[in-house]
Amino acid sequence: MSYYSPSIEKLIENFEKLPSIGNKTAIRLAFHILNSSEEETNEFIKSIQEAKKNLKFCSKCYNISDTDPCEICKNATRDQSKICVVEDVKDVVAIEKIHEYKGLYHVLHGTISPMDGIGPEDIKIKELLSRLMEGTVKEVILATNPKVEGEATAMYISKLIKPMGIKATRLAHGIPVGGDLEYTDEFTLGKAFEGRVEL
Ligand SMILES: [Zn+2]
Repeated sequence: MSYYSPSIEKLIENFEKLPSIGNKTAIRLAFHILNSSEEETNEFIKSIQEAKKNLKFCSKCYNISDTDPCEICKNATRDQSKICVVEDVKDVVAIEKIHEYKGLYHVLHGTISPMDGIGPEDIKIKELLSRLMEGTVKEVILATNPKVEGEATAMYISKLIKPMGIKATRLAHGIPVGGDLEYTDEFTLGKAFEGRVEL
């Protein structure tokens, strides 16, 4: 049985559906909302509704955007010869924040993961290939996460694009700056060896 009134219970339940929100956090958030002013609550509801209404996927790169094509695809000053392939929309933001990369993106919306029943046709690989057919792209940077699924997805894509005469590159992985060899896991250390450079 629940100790809360049905409407609070409902609010807690909805918060619990959000990623990384456990029961305790859901209760804290629900009570935070109850203690907020009506104005704050309306503002919060409006921001969710506006985001849902306005945001769409860019039909070229599948990034989430207020416009289609997105601001990055629309920007003619960006290097049209490079596409950086990422798993998730959040990865685009992470890369944009470092102000190093000036090419285009392609968001896969997942990785190939046979264990979870996700095959190549379930993520945006077909869409990437049709962009590459246009012939302007010279390099595809495979920036999927350095995990088993991310590696497998990068390998799969690189095999498809190499015969098209397009360079496939992978981000270097290694020991984090300020990191310590002793505390680096075997996988990372192995990758760091593979990606070693001449001094
Ligand atoms: Zn786009």
